[in-house]
Amino acid sequence: MSFKQLGLTEALLTAVAEQGYSIPTPVQQQTIPLMLSGKDILAGAQTGTGKTASFALPLLQRLAEEVDFSQGSRPVRGLILTPTRELALQVFDSIKAYGKYIPLTAEVIVGGVSVGMQTRNLRRGCDIIVATPGRLLDHVQQRNVNLSKVDILVLDEADRMLDMGFLPDIKRLMGLLPKRRQTVLFSATIANGIKTLAAALLNNPTEVSVARQNATADTITEQLYAINKEYKREVLSYLIGSNNWQQVLVFVRTKHGADRLQKQLMTDGIRATALHGDKTQGARNKALEAFKTGKVSVLVATDIAARGLDIEDLPHVVNFDLPQVPEDYVHRIGRTGRAGATGVAISLVCPDEARYLAELEKFLKRQIPRVADTGHEPISLNVVDAPKKNAPNKTTGNKDFRHNKKTQPVGKSSKSPDNLGKPAGRRGAARSSKR
Ligand code: AMP
Repeated sequence: MSFKQLGLTEALLTAVAEQGYSIPTPVQQQTIPLMLSGKDILAGAQTGTGKTASFALPLLQRLAEEVDFSQGSRPVRGLILTPTRELALQVFDSIKAYGKYIPLTAEVIVGGVSVGMQTRNLRRGCDIIVATPGRLLDHVQQRNVNLSKVDILVLDEADRMLDMGFLPDIKRLMGLLPKRRQTVLFSATIANGIKTLAAALLNNPTEVSVARQNATADTITEQLYAINKEYKREVLSYLIGSNNWQQVLVFVRTKHGADRLQKQLMTDGIRATALHGDKTQGARNKALEAFKTGKVSVLVATDIAARGLDIEDLPHVVNFDLPQVPEDYVHRIGRTGRAGATGVAISLVCPDEARYLAELEKFLKRQIPRVADTGHEPISLNVVDAPKKNAPNKTTGNKDFRHNKKTQPVGKSSKSPDNLGKPAGRRGAARSSKR
């Protein structure tokens, strides 16, 4: 199937060809014709599937078909809401690229940057807004923008918007939009919260699903290093240094952890920068740019900041901390192996994270392949009968998890729990990282 067969106009086909796309991805094949026909859609698609073009192309086409170019200042007719600033900027860039030959105007409205310029741009008028909900509401309250003529609404990564507590903002924004409109909701996971939101916002939607919520791309090679916490940094530096990795996205759980690891990597002689929600938008853009252009080889990021980032041909993703929410693992490693390219996703997992690992593997319905020789004493990450909520663990008194002496530990040899994590030293790390 070609993009032309999907019913796109010449202007869009040219732009798509310039992007180097020849065959529409599955989500594009399903979503583009539906959106062109005006249907509401509930789409289960994660990042990396080509979902941005799947809504951006038909949105541009539909708005261009009905626009009155003779009007000087036109009302906003396309609205795309995203959970994070980075994703909004990325979607905005895609809109500009795909709409290169279509005379529609677009603005991106995100927090963390000066309001003045946004106010001026909004007052001048635009056809499409890509925004994070909070800052857009500020502008609505200031009467800088009127959303009463929006024809098409896209909620991108709606699951993450709910996770981030945007539901009240979304509800308020919905009250400002016309009831008669096309609404398209994208979510990596279609869980209960999303179903409720979809029932409230969508009108008889068609469901599109391109990847199961617990599916990861088969272009990604996954590896898990079972190591004690204190060796994570050493193993990471060694993997990067000895393999001469040039572009590695490293996920950590906290903002503080991101800053700390970035500094530690720098002291190990590795060019690194950090991306998290406490940084100003300017600093976040700068960090991303430095990473994309190769000025630094490592970007240490938290989930919020890295959500939806699309970095071309990203070869390596490392989970320095395992995510607490299983879906985040799928999102994180989805930063690599995109659009058919291959990638490697490495997780450094310590015993404290055994419970998260058990939940994650239950969610994935498979085991993440273990690296047999981590360069350190093999340790067990097994959790047996992870205690149910509020049920005390009778065996150990540890509410979170307990090690199982009988089950096979990760690694080559079996160690008693008393010996867990005894370091084997640097020599072993060198061996393992040559794999
Ligand atoms: P997304 O899921 O929208 O973040 O897109 C993931 C990546 O796939 C981006 O780098 C897009 O530029 C790329 N992409 C989108 N559609 C296609 C396509 N039909 N062929 C090749 N690459 C694509």
